[in-house]
Amino acid sequence: MTGARSHIRAGLVAALCLLLGTGCLGPRSALAAQAAPLETGLGVFILESPSRKEGEAAMLQVAIENATPRLTQWGRLTQPVTVRLQPDHGALERATGRSGYEWLRAWARYDLLDVQAPDTWHPLKASQRDLDELLLHELTHTVMFQLAASSSDWTQKKIPAWFREGMASYTAEQAYRWPTLEQLARTLEDNPDWEPLLQPEELFEQQMQVAYGAAHHAFVFLMNRYGQDTVKRLIHAMRQGPDFQTAFASTVGLPSEAFLRDFTRYVRLRGFKGGRLLQSPAAL
Ligand SMILES: [Zn+2]
Repeated sequence: MTGARSHIRAGLVAALCLLLGTGCLGPRSALAAQAAPLETGLGVFILESPSRKEGEAAMLQVAIENATPRLTQWGRLTQPVTVRLQPDHGALERATGRSGYEWLRAWARYDLLDVQAPDTWHPLKASQRDLDELLLHELTHTVMFQLAASSSDWTQKKIPAWFREGMASYTAEQAYRWPTLEQLARTLEDNPDWEPLLQPEELFEQQMQVAYGAAHHAFVFLMNRYGQDTVKRLIHAMRQGPDFQTAFASTVGLPSEAFLRDFTRYVRLRGFKGGRLLQSPAAL
């Protein structure tokens, strides 16, 4: 039904464009930039949206504004970010070159963010609160990429998924979406070959909750044990040249693999019980 509807809608748009003589046939060319950039305390945003999605574009603008106070705890954008409101999930997949992720609602890059229009989220339309949470998560990625690298080397920093997604989930307070530490401990017991932190690619596709949950809890563990200032120094250290692994070892004081082994041990041995969070895992 959704497919049939979108065909009809596409047909209407094409017909309208022919009448107006603008020749705007593709979904990408149907996006128009807002007249003035949006400036918040975080940085500058250029919003692009289809003309028939004015209400959704207004929601997106509010979500960007609402995200600002929490995001500035990390720093500020150094480059303007173009935020494109994609009319539906198919358009989002085409714009991002990713397919098969039904749950995907947005995709963040260094200075570009694609967001699926909130009225086409499935099975329920997104509320302002849903969109606020999404933007907080996605813009955490963008702020982190801009603080850690330049536009030409951000993909070479090899920032692992657990750090990227954990930081975004932490900032957007998304723990309620994922398994608890106890559930994660049981899942790892039941599936000893799963490596949600070291080899998360397949799990992000097939066990999304486990992959995001492990990332979230690992990042919280990092924050609790080493402090936010250390995490911020790690991000800033990458800007001076080193990749994630090198920067992690020099700022946190141990290799990132050793940290992940500590965290995994903390989960398996249930170090989260009895308030033993700050205790050395070797003593558990
Ligand atoms: Zn993310």
